[in-house]
Amino acid sequence: MKIEKYSLGIGDRFGHQGEAQLRAIIRANKAGIAIVPVWNKSNREHSYIHSKPVDTRIEADAAVSALSFERSFYVDADHINLSNVLGFIEASDFFTLDVASKIGTSSDNAEISDFINSCKKYSGILDIPGIENPFEVTDSLITSIAQKFLAAIGEAGRIYNFILEQKGADNFVTEVSMDEVEAPQTPVELFFILMMIAQQGIPVQTIAPKFTGRFNKGVNYVGDVAQFAREFEEDVLVIDYAVTEFGLPDNLKLSVHSGSDKFSIYPEISRVIRKYDKGIHVKTAGTTWLEEVIGLALAGGEGLVLAKHIYKSALTRQEELCAPYADVIDIKQEELPSAEEVDRWGSEKFANTLRHIPGHPDYNPSFRQLIHVGYKIAAESGETFTGLLKLHHEIIGNCVEENLFDRHLKRLFEIG
Ligand SMILES: [Zn+2]
Repeated sequence: MKIEKYSLGIGDRFGHQGEAQLRAIIRANKAGIAIVPVWNKSNREHSYIHSKPVDTRIEADAAVSALSFERSFYVDADHINLSNVLGFIEASDFFTLDVASKIGTSSDNAEISDFINSCKKYSGILDIPGIENPFEVTDSLITSIAQKFLAAIGEAGRIYNFILEQKGADNFVTEVSMDEVEAPQTPVELFFILMMIAQQGIPVQTIAPKFTGRFNKGVNYVGDVAQFAREFEEDVLVIDYAVTEFGLPDNLKLSVHSGSDKFSIYPEISRVIRKYDKGIHVKTAGTTWLEEVIGLALAGGEGLVLAKHIYKSALTRQEELCAPYADVIDIKQEELPSAEEVDRWGSEKFANTLRHIPGHPDYNPSFRQLIHVGYKIAAESGETFTGLLKLHHEIIGNCVEENLFDRHLKRLFEIG
């Protein structure tokens, strides 16, 4: 199973927007972009919502058949590890092996010295075609990379082998992710990480490093866009070289876990992948859930009441809701409107405050981030929430489709 050059990870927490999401993909296909969808959902999301991996599969299958979609599509066991992968085996055909928590854990000395010995041919000046300034590879650099990443990639090998035993080779796509950490991985680190992955025999097709800058949930990129662009371009060239050096799959591509809406770096991603004619996978995660809240607000009546309830409850439960996402949100308390203020808002004011239109006078990133992590409250509302999703499926579906197509796909692929 070989994933296509362009793919979009579409997260759908409550599983109602499969068709709306697929409509956005189909519009991109019609505009000439051969992109395929990957429905991704992590164990954490499943546990908050009390859904199961098979629900994502059912949703994807239903959307594909309803719209007679003829390209490939995938169901991603997002951010899984050895403790929870089993539950995803049957329903998934894309596995994101998350080994971030193992970065920096110790490996035994023999493994470290074996790895260091295997790197000998790259020590000194490492000149990667296309990269202007060659990397200087010292013994201490290799040692520090081994100490940081060898245990993590060893773990990826164990997870991969477990999936392989269950599903058989060629029946799934493998991604390795290390994005949910503070410190970014540099292009030279990525080169040696790919070497470790090859040594583990993992046929990795997408890799998600931590890029420079902050990838906060639901809001724009925070960081140095020029530096991101430089490193992203070097990562693309490193991958190209690593594929031939280490015999990795020739469709290996970067996976950007956007945390939704990193609009300011989309043009750079677009420029680089076009320049080198490379593939890309972008995960958009929670942006669909936010469109559901926007759609509810726009529907007015009970929908607006529930949208306000979600915000007001989230306001009083910030600590609990934000804890699992502490590294990837930056909510400014002084920007959060009070419950009384939000009670006075109409549909448009609520939607404009939440909707991610950079530069819109009502747009409030703190408000947006709080609702982003507040999906647990919607889950607790049970049928009140899902009933309203069904009742207003048209207006909500339009929000979801427009968001993915106009704000994401158009920017990523420069669709006019
Ligand atoms: Zn991620």
